[in-house]
Amino acid sequence: MKGRVFDVQRCCVHDGPGIRTTVFLAGCPLRCAWCHNPEAFSGQTARSVEAREVLREVLEDRAFYEATGGGLTVSGGEPLLQAPFVVELCAGARAAGLHTCLQTSGAVDEAALRAVLEVVDLVQFDLKHLDPARHLALTGRGNEGVLANAALAASGARQVEFRVPIVPGLTDAAEDLARTAAFVRGLGVGALHLVPYQRTYLGKYAQLGLLARCEQVEPPSPAAMHAHAAEVERHGLAARIAG
Ligand code: SF4
Repeated sequence: MKGRVFDVQRCCVHDGPGIRTTVFLAGCPLRCAWCHNPEAFSGQTARSVEAREVLREVLEDRAFYEATGGGLTVSGGEPLLQAPFVVELCAGARAAGLHTCLQTSGAVDEAALRAVLEVVDLVQFDLKHLDPARHLALTGRGNEGVLANAALAASGARQVEFRVPIVPGLTDAAEDLARTAAFVRGLGVGALHLVPYQRTYLGKYAQLGLLARCEQVEPPSPAAMHAHAAEVERHGLAARIAG
């Protein structure tokens, strides 16, 4: 089966445990104001490739995965738009003994998530914003389906990590973090991962001729991230600041 892939990055250390290869799939139903992968929806750099070819490339680094507990991460864009391809790729990787991780926004049909849960060891699930109107304004879509899929991931995944992007002025208000923390705690999950906004992606927008909506936004300081973590912990969750 063929999929649309816009990048394969080897030796990643922030996309799940250990050293990993991250496969980025094209297409996304959202348009997050801070999106750091505009290639995902521009489609300009995507190629059509067989799952078995991607798996062959991923397996070239098997020694690193075995030494570090790493493996394959499927990201995007929104990989669940190509769920059959993800199922074939991740099933092959698991059969070869690799740890598999899915990164998703959850803004997809429930059936796509349900199918992929069978073949992944870890789901990293982004919660962009709990308020439906703010989610719509910041990503172009409401979040009703996202929240239902978050509940499905919490109950059905082998392991799940919920992540919230910390974009100053857009997603980092104390009441918003409190609402997200309460939602995650209500799903029976004990931690929330905070992912700080970065500016390193801005050159991609210039290259692709696209407008970067967050060009003027500065990344949160380490002190601000620790304050956000403390806010999350006040609401009964462990807070993890992503690297
Ligand atoms: S879900 Fe991810 S890839 Fe899609 S627009 Fe948002 S940040 Fe970009």
